[in-house]
Amino acid sequence: MKLTIALLLFYYLGFHAAGDKSTLPFYSGAGDNSSVIQTDTTIDVTYYKLQLKLSINPDNIKGITTVNGKFITPGNSFFLNLANSLTVDSVTGANIGSFTHSNDVLRVNLNSLSSEFAVNVYYRGLPPATGYGSFVFSSHGPEPSIWSLSEPYGSSDWFPNKNAPADKADSSDVWVTCPSSLTAVSNGLLKETITNPDNTTTYRWKGSYPIASYLISIAVSNYALYKNYFRYSQTDSLTLTHYVYPEYLGSLKSNLDETPEMMRVFSEKYSQYPFIREKYGHAQFGWGGGMEHQTISSMGAFTPGVIAHELSHQWYGDKVTCRDFHHIWLNEGFATYSEAVYIEASQGREAYDYFMLQKMNSAKNAVGTVYVQNAGSISEIFNTNRSYYKGGVILHMLRGVTGDSLFYDIMKSYVNDTLHAYGTAVTEDFQRIAESKYGKSLGYFFYEWIYGEKYPKYRITWGKSQVGGNSYDVNLLVEQAVNTNPVFFTMPVDVKVETKSGDTTVTVFNNSQTQTFVFTITGEPLRLTFDPGNFILKDKTGDDPVEPIDFRLDQNYPNPFNPATVIAYHVNKYDDVSLTVYDVRGREIAVLVNAKMRPGNFQVKFTPVNLASGIYFCVLKSGSDIDSKKMIYIR
Ligand SMILES: [Zn+2]
Repeated sequence: MKLTIALLLFYYLGFHAAGDKSTLPFYSGAGDNSSVIQTDTTIDVTYYKLQLKLSINPDNIKGITTVNGKFITPGNSFFLNLANSLTVDSVTGANIGSFTHSNDVLRVNLNSLSSEFAVNVYYRGLPPATGYGSFVFSSHGPEPSIWSLSEPYGSSDWFPNKNAPADKADSSDVWVTCPSSLTAVSNGLLKETITNPDNTTTYRWKGSYPIASYLISIAVSNYALYKNYFRYSQTDSLTLTHYVYPEYLGSLKSNLDETPEMMRVFSEKYSQYPFIREKYGHAQFGWGGGMEHQTISSMGAFTPGVIAHELSHQWYGDKVTCRDFHHIWLNEGFATYSEAVYIEASQGREAYDYFMLQKMNSAKNAVGTVYVQNAGSISEIFNTNRSYYKGGVILHMLRGVTGDSLFYDIMKSYVNDTLHAYGTAVTEDFQRIAESKYGKSLGYFFYEWIYGEKYPKYRITWGKSQVGGNSYDVNLLVEQAVNTNPVFFTMPVDVKVETKSGDTTVTVFNNSQTQTFVFTITGEPLRLTFDPGNFILKDKTGDDPVEPIDFRLDQNYPNPFNPATVIAYHVNKYDDVSLTVYDVRGREIAVLVNAKMRPGNFQVKFTPVNLASGIYFCVLKSGSDIDSKKMIYIR
């Protein structure tokens, strides 16, 4: 799902014009006070069939929803979620007994203990519009536009179901009857179009892939149908069907024509389009963003970004669905990152880097963890900075850790893993797959980026020392400001050192608050860049000095001196540093500096008291390095 803010206002006004009564609850808090819907954990749903008849003005639906399922252990009662504002007329089926419908729960009793059930629920009414709409009667101009957007918890506003992404049905049918002037669009393939005697038409859509109930959708309007094709082999192509409001078709064509290329890029990077036996399509609707309904994204905006975003959700969101909305970043972070993947493929690495930089700047404003603490809060689930931008940046960072080819291996393995393909996953599933490809633990990575907050703030200082010939030690000090959770961030970090003999990049594993790294390179270091690829979400200060620092004590000035002299000294690594004045017999006269110091250029003023005229020695020590200068005091 992707919300585009500019279009939200457009939609909001349009919605007013449509005269719907539920304008206020629509966006007010976006369901912040709701709690996670309780679903029946004793059943496993295998099939949904929706038969909906839409009436416009007065707006209402008449539905028969068939739900087939199994009991985890044999049972004689189960419940489905269904909004109370819909009236249930009857519940039928073999072995089906009485039912009750209260508190948005439809409880069905069986006549005898059974291991499975098949139930038909007959209901009618005006579905409430909760969350981002769930089910809306609206219009574009004079024409009706009726659509659903169930994510996260709105599916039971319009059909009885087990309202939890964890339980996918194996397949689905959606049959919609509407005025013949309109086209009804849904998931899967259009199997049949039936013209009825009462000036209505029935569209019979069939989805043959597993589907989460929030991904079942309808979109109904006076659509123009525009098609293009994705050729995925010499002989095979997938039809892309774009159902758009006719007055928009001309202006949308050029963007819609980009869809096959996006499909090619994602198929190459992520593996074949997941619903290749069916279709991919767009259905224009009245919400100011996009929603990745399975095989048919509902679209309020057709920018390349939104098109790429919703398309990529077919892999990450629809084929592999977050098991619950605590882990929504597995949908939204992946789709946001996919926008970057397409930008990189179509416009190059620089455009990718710029896109990621923008997302990083927003991700820095994320408050709280990427793991959604309160999955009952719709605004927390769909918090842009957290679930979308920081979630996307996390994949960018993972790519930085693993390198390109392993990263795409991980992305492919995850979406094709037998445990998760056409099923669901949580963060730990993705972590397990990433670790199995990477060959090392990524526990620190997921712990701090998914379950931790904020991002590292690095202070970088460094120096160099010649260790013979053209070999130099680089002394790098990495300090992190204290964070709350985690206290500091563990990350492998690339460090690039430019020398007269070329560039050297080393990877250091930064796993403490204050850490020094020493590495030997060929060539005199001229410049150092910490994380040159900008993979890490971070602030940094202190790297890239024009003059790298050598260990050195300068001659004091003035010299000879009275009453005072200034001593400049240069420290090239993080270490204990002392600057001491001795007389010619080696007696300590004054300790000017004695501290742990980071690399840098410093100076200190020496003003002796009651010192005899004569020669003195100033000695600078840093670790095993030592330098000294003679100085003369005149009374
Ligand atoms: Zn999305």
